Amino acid sequence: MQHPQARVVFGAGSAARLGEELDLLSAPAETRALVLTTPGRSVALSTIADALGHRVAGICACAELHVPVERVREVIIDVDRLSPNVLVALGGGSAVGLAKAVALECRLPIAAVPTTYAGSEMTGIWGITEGEQKRTGRDPGVAPRLVVYDPLLTLTLPADVSAASGMNAIAHAVEAMYAADAGPIATSAADKAIRLLASALPRIVARPDDLEARTMALQGAHAAGVALNMASMGLHHKICHVLGGTFGLPHAPTHAAVLPHVVAFNAPAAPLAMDRIANALGANDASEGLAALNRTLGLNFTLADLGLRAEDVNRSAVLIVSSSYTNPRPVTQDDARALLMRAL
Ligand code: NAD
Repeated sequence: MQHPQARVVFGAGSAARLGEELDLLSAPAETRALVLTTPGRSVALSTIADALGHRVAGICACAELHVPVERVREVIIDVDRLSPNVLVALGGGSAVGLAKAVALECRLPIAAVPTTYAGSEMTGIWGITEGEQKRTGRDPGVAPRLVVYDPLLTLTLPADVSAASGMNAIAHAVEAMYAADAGPIATSAADKAIRLLASALPRIVARPDDLEARTMALQGAHAAGVALNMASMGLHHKICHVLGGTFGLPHAPTHAAVLPHVVAFNAPAAPLAMDRIANALGANDASEGLAALNRTLGLNFTLADLGLRAEDVNRSAVLIVSSSYTNPRPVTQDDARALLMRAL
């Protein structure tokens, strides 16, 4: 279990105070911020640039899904050239992930302004992709020191991306519920996350500019990130890691497609956790509740829809059982193959 030492600021309009918050973090030195984000985020970037003013040392809109090592090297060159004393990650898991990978090498503090529900801002979990291989690890030193949640910055997140990102957050909470090493804070955070996201996401899909629902979803994402940081992830995350890393399936939609199947598989081995998950979803059964939420959110696709071919199932099953991880129910290669076939 790891506790990041983060200052967390919530509220509509809170991004406007980012400059002052960063000054507290950098004091007594003057803030020199290198802002990292994904391409195309010009409106959010101008909000952040206005909030930072003279504190901006540079901007790099080069973050990509799964943190390719080439992008990390690019930013390290910028760090050498611009000498920032803080990295500001603006965006989703890709921007935060790039900042963590750079911090792993440069040991700069990170301030995160999350604009999706991935939850990476609350964890010390990092990942870097080189070729087909994604290396991951945990290092509390790369966990953001300041996190500013401003729901106004999430209003532009498209409904379908919001729904899939929200199911990604629910997946963190679900696996924390049955993790052997999860303590009461992790399971309480997981419970809260599922409740908030399950009620906010359908409202967001119906009306993406519903600020109250956006606020609830961001609170849920925060709670799911706390749970993720404090508990080991199991079979679900291993499957998504293999399908995304080796077969290129899209990150968040894959979480949505796999989760009800993993929960059905794990159910006999974790009955108390399943009751809590079902209760938080307002359903009679955890797996059915998650499948129903997927349908409400328009996420009822199969792994085949997301690009997995039947001939890839065997190799996926081999990779899924190739390394050890904790899971409430032991998983054989046959189990993994059967689960993937049900989700295909
Ligand atoms: P992402 O960061 O790639 O964002 C998805 C897309 O949405 C991008 O094109 C981005 O530019 C855009 N976007 C983001 N916010 C927006 C907004 N408010 N309005 C409009 N567009 C917006 O994807 P993600 O799902 O947030 O993160 C996925 C990545 O995060 C994966 O690489 C995953 O492995 C990683 N992740 C890491 C952790 C961790 O703890 N380390 C946790 C969860 C996810």
